Amino acid sequence: MPPSSPKPQDRGEAHIRDRGDACPGALRLHRADDGALARLRLPTGVLTPRQVLLLADASDRLGDGHLSLTSRGNLELRGLGEGCGLGLADVLREAGLLPSERHERVRNMVVSPLAGPDVQAWAARLDELLCAEDWTPELSGRFLFAVDDGRGDVAALSPDVTLLAAADGPLLRVADRTYRVAAADAPRAALAAAEAFLAAAREAGTGAWRVRELPPGQDVDVTGHLRRAAIAAEPVPDSVRAPSGPPPPGVIGDDTVSVLARLGRVTSAQFRALLPAEEVRVTPWRGFVLPRFADRASAEERLRALGEAGFLTRTDSPWIGVTACTGRPGCAKSLSDVRADARPREGALPVHWSGCARRCGHPQGTWTDMVATAEGAYQMTVQGSTR
Ligand code: SF4
Repeated sequence: MPPSSPKPQDRGEAHIRDRGDACPGALRLHRADDGALARLRLPTGVLTPRQVLLLADASDRLGDGHLSLTSRGNLELRGLGEGCGLGLADVLREAGLLPSERHERVRNMVVSPLAGPDVQAWAARLDELLCAEDWTPELSGRFLFAVDDGRGDVAALSPDVTLLAAADGPLLRVADRTYRVAAADAPRAALAAAEAFLAAAREAGTGAWRVRELPPGQDVDVTGHLRRAAIAAEPVPDSVRAPSGPPPPGVIGDDTVSVLARLGRVTSAQFRALLPAEEVRVTPWRGFVLPRFADRASAEERLRALGEAGFLTRTDSPWIGVTACTGRPGCAKSLSDVRADARPREGALPVHWSGCARRCGHPQGTWTDMVATAEGAYQMTVQGSTR
């Protein structure tokens, strides 16, 4: 900030964060009541069969034998014992899931789970660029990129910077503005937009971690950063389209299998049961997509097997749309064993069960909210907005 700039408080703006970013990562473990928790960023969402096996083994050997899926398509290992951090880091390095220790908590990206190779390549390149820059670790662990194949699924998850495939070339969205860029420039354009945000956040001086946390009227000079990166960008009106929603469970097309994890958690045995597969894609809707089966019959056979392994495989499962926070025994704040209490409820809205009013992991939009009370019951309300 130039010396003559007024301080945020002098401009009447609240400083929204006074503490550092404590987001857990693969190396910075979070201490929970049931042991340590590690959060593994999976920027492209794609795991190879070898990575699936290594993670399943790590959850058995170092953790509690389960893997949790997050609403950003990350994986969490819980119940890690004292001194397990180094062992886990070794596994992740061996699996190729830790390309840069400095950058591991800023590799926050959601990618359309049914994306083709071009869009997948944007995501992989953006991840490489993030890991190659000295300044990117200044982004918070909450700053989110979305790489959307045009169906609008991950673009609807309130990202900070979005790359959206479109017929006339990719769109870059940030801070209510949209630009058309060349396909070859798309990953660099997303990175330049993140740099523009950081510059704006520094100038605002309010401690913003996300674009939407910037003070009203704070300019994000995306155009200037794109120009400095020699990226041609044309401002365009955004063609807002209705999001397509997540991939439904079942066979999609003739060769892709989609399943969901009940309450967003799987055992290591269930995780291994996703194989054999060419690759496993982890979705931000707490599910898995397995592409490229030889034909529909083999995809349907696999779907049946995954149903027997405990995955949700049908669109009429009452457990679809039911989510829960960690609750007891993992979280000291919880008033209940939320995951044992969680049940489907009648009605069209998603339902989220929480052990306290923080409502960790609640869905976006509008949902039926069940919060544990000190009396051993749950208080039901409707929360959120339809925005
Ligand atoms: S909502 Fe409350 S009880 Fe549940 S995980 Fe978050 S802090 Fe813990």
